[in-house]
Amino acid sequence: MGNPRVIYWFRTDLRLHDSPALKAALDLNPEEFWPVWTWDPRYVYRARVGTNRWQFLLDCQNDLSKSITKLNKKSKLFLMREAPQTLFPKLFKAWKITHLVFEKDTDAYAKDRDEVVKKAAEEAGVEVIIKSGRTLWDSDELVKKNHNKPTMSISQVQAAGPKIGKISRPIPPPKSIPDPGDTKLDFEPQRPEQNPDLNSSSRLQGDKSYERISGPNDDFAVPTLEELGFARATSSHRGGETIALQMLDRIIADEQYTATFEKPNTAPTAFEPQATTLLSPHLHFGSLSIREFYWRVQDVVDNYSGKASHPPASLTGQLLFRDMYFGAQAALGYSFGQTLYNSHCRFIPWHLPSKVDHKTKLVTGEYHVDSPQAEEWFQRWKYGRTGFPWIDALMRQLRQEGWIHHLGRHAVACFLTRGGCYISWERGAEVFEEWLIDHETACNAGNWQWLSCTAFFAQFFRCYSPIAFPKKWDKEGIFVKRYVPELKGLDAKYIYEPWKAPMADQKKAKVRIQGDGKEQLEGVYPKPMFDFNERRNICIEGMKKAYKVGLYGDDPKAIDGTWRKL
Ligand code: FAD
Repeated sequence: MGNPRVIYWFRTDLRLHDSPALKAALDLNPEEFWPVWTWDPRYVYRARVGTNRWQFLLDCQNDLSKSITKLNKKSKLFLMREAPQTLFPKLFKAWKITHLVFEKDTDAYAKDRDEVVKKAAEEAGVEVIIKSGRTLWDSDELVKKNHNKPTMSISQVQAAGPKIGKISRPIPPPKSIPDPGDTKLDFEPQRPEQNPDLNSSSRLQGDKSYERISGPNDDFAVPTLEELGFARATSSHRGGETIALQMLDRIIADEQYTATFEKPNTAPTAFEPQATTLLSPHLHFGSLSIREFYWRVQDVVDNYSGKASHPPASLTGQLLFRDMYFGAQAALGYSFGQTLYNSHCRFIPWHLPSKVDHKTKLVTGEYHVDSPQAEEWFQRWKYGRTGFPWIDALMRQLRQEGWIHHLGRHAVACFLTRGGCYISWERGAEVFEEWLIDHETACNAGNWQWLSCTAFFAQFFRCYSPIAFPKKWDKEGIFVKRYVPELKGLDAKYIYEPWKAPMADQKKAKVRIQGDGKEQLEGVYPKPMFDFNERRNICIEGMKKAYKVGLYGDDPKAIDGTWRKL
């Protein structure tokens, strides 16, 4: 085969430290080595990706590119503006590639995409090397060791994981990167609109920056948000391996915090700084290795002289939850992200269900509105004008920052589904998919199923009150006042129930509690959209009935699960 001419395809691993796939690529001793990131239109345009997550991605790419250049002035991250399925066959030929190396991705769409690329490589005589590195254990192996079943509990992960072996120690970053070969391209890109994977409303139509694979300046540069036509990001959370490792260093330096961390005791109302690590977006983009995180924490725990916490509440326990959802998704594929065809997800006749696109087997943005009231509640929930300040503060924090604390996610998810609106978890998951900077298909769908009591968790009578729950953490309502500034003058005793404030208090606080918030008038905050206690009881009754009917609802054909099979 001659000397190796290697493309390293960066995807879910935007880092140099602890990357088994990158190590495998460099171990080939390449004569020429191209670090590449391909613009994957399906990932980038069909998925709901808000501006804040875009910014985080571009941050990670810029940081990685700089780090590569530090190791080799001639190299960087080569941003290629075409879908990998059509780009790679042309690249293999143009650059006479011998090897393609990348980190394994078990997301349903990624699996399909990678199969197409693998086939093209096979046809071109290119050897493909794939290494697991995104989770503590390889998710497919985890499923195998869990009796070929999706991992639906932490104890299953704790039993199956060690059967694969001990979690690997992190690998140090490379000391050098080989030169890239020629980067001339003698072919035209496939225009995005020629890509059948893109819908006709794609923002890409007519976008000039895609006329050249190497970008408008022919330099393979990471684009800016402006170039992509986005407004400015609003989140203060920034991406990149450098920042991720600094954040981890700061956490690890605080031995007591690291060793005694217990998730249920961290405040969802804390901000600047938040009470948990906020490393989730870095794990999502791979700017932080999960094993680096795991072992740095475990070493502190092992050497701690006091009483350390244990999984599942501890920090390493949180990482096990991540592996659990990845294992469930690896086993269930596309169906894991929806109720339909998902053998592990309970059917509930929600008032605002999602609709499934049978062709692609994906939940689409369309839905059937069978209750105008539910649609109105959904919009008020999404845009933070429910009239419940705790819920509104969280949803506004999510939209602005792209991140909220885990218990905050619990509160808004429970409120939307079984503890308030009785709206499908899939509708909530779509909003999270758009706005979260840490959006991870497996974790998002899995946690929404958990919170809506459709899988993983079944105690539907335990609901979060939007009044009593936040009071436990923040009596003064400092968090609410930060994200719902209309209420900043209000006396703390009314902060979670402003509708109870007498007119004199409202006047003093320069706020009027009135209307439904549709018109955003200065100094006005909406009335609550329903009586919470009444709604909670209605929801619990609904859940009781749905649980009696069984996992598949009351469709007679569904009882044996046959309608789940396409
Ligand atoms: P920490 O408490 O510091 O935990 C460390 C790491 O452990 C996190 O970075 C994360 O990678 C992992 N982790 C912690 N809790 C969970 C969990 N319950 N499930 C899976 N992994 C976990 N997490 C995502 O990464 N992406 C998502 O799209 C996502 N969607 C969610 C949707 C809902 C409705 C809920 C209730 C939770 C969701 N989570 C998601 C899980 C969890 O809320 C976040 O991982 C966590 O809040 C991130 O903050 P952190 O990094 O400070 O977490």
